[in-house]
Amino acid sequence: MSRPITKVYGTLLLGDDPLSVTRAGNIIKNGGLVAFPTETVYGLGAAATDSEAVKRIFTAKGRPPDNPLIVHISSREQLNQIAKTVPDTANILIDKFWPGPLSLVLHRSEAVPAIVSAGLSTVAVRMPNHRVALDLIAASGVPIAAPSANRSGRPSPTTYNHVLEDLAGRIDAVIRSTICPIGVESTVLDLTGLKPVMLRPGGLTREELEETLGCRLEISGLKYSGSAPHSPGMKYRHYSPRAPLILVTGPINRRRRLIKMIFNYYRRKGLRVGYLDPGTPEDLMTETGSEQLARNLYSNLRRMDALEMDLILAEETEPAGLGLAVMNRIRKAAVRVLKIK
Ligand code: AMP
Ligand code: MG
Repeated sequence: MSRPITKVYGTLLLGDDPLSVTRAGNIIKNGGLVAFPTETVYGLGAAATDSEAVKRIFTAKGRPPDNPLIVHISSREQLNQIAKTVPDTANILIDKFWPGPLSLVLHRSEAVPAIVSAGLSTVAVRMPNHRVALDLIAASGVPIAAPSANRSGRPSPTTYNHVLEDLAGRIDAVIRSTICPIGVESTVLDLTGLKPVMLRPGGLTREELEETLGCRLEISGLKYSGSAPHSPGMKYRHYSPRAPLILVTGPINRRRRLIKMIFNYYRRKGLRVGYLDPGTPEDLMTETGSEQLARNLYSNLRRMDALEMDLILAEETEPAGLGLAVMNRIRKAAVRVLKIK
């Protein structure tokens, strides 16, 4: 028996069973917006071939119109529909990493309306490694344009409750499923230049990509916002909880001492101060340590809001494995970075 149908402020809550996913596919086919789970974060999907539907994504999220979307596909045929050409490097990476958390920037075909790519002549495309996402794309019969399903600037959603917090009443439906296992967005790799360039670190690690490509990867605009001309969306403040977040970097003992001082100083003044605990350095050196950190990053940031923190303190983490993506997100969420030598 399927669950009774429920709505939250007009947004339909759907299960992740085949019947509900077919229903969600029909909503997309008819120009509607559906939030759905992927292995990275929840996406907010619309038919990528329907410019009116895609426009609704920007409105629902309050997303700046110059921030392009990623097109999600469920078959190789759809790739040929989306991209003008598929270079050899793309084929090698696709064979190895799709379905998975890797978005490839390729030249955009005419089948994709310009609004999807915020007017760029390129398009980012990926095949998600999640049964519900793949079934939804297949059920809708079209590639699905989908950014993360949060209000613009907020931490990305990794549970359907996060989606409802931000978008209830603004979208047609959300598919209820389990927590997104990776927890940070896909890695974005630009393949339209002479050499591959990583535009955004994400769920597929730099190390895995470099091993397959057999070379060091150029990383564009990694440290601070505003310096990534190829990846327009990265210039905005992003992933932010409501309370100001301060990032402290430098040698571990010194940065932890400074964090403790700031923490105690503001606590004595009666403020609620949160600390985003990255775990021990030993934890972070292990793969599971950085995987856990990534999986819980956005729910931890949202929990700081639920606890009504006035200030959040975060510290530098090892930028290896998924730690690179975690550091990138924390830097972008931060209002200030305190560097100690
Ligand atoms: P989101 O799905 O919300 O994580 O946003 C998608 C991100 O992918 C954008 O903010 C850009 O950084 C990147 N992106 C999407 N399409 C392109 C493109 N055509 N060229 C460069 N970067 C892109
Ligand atoms: Mg996003």
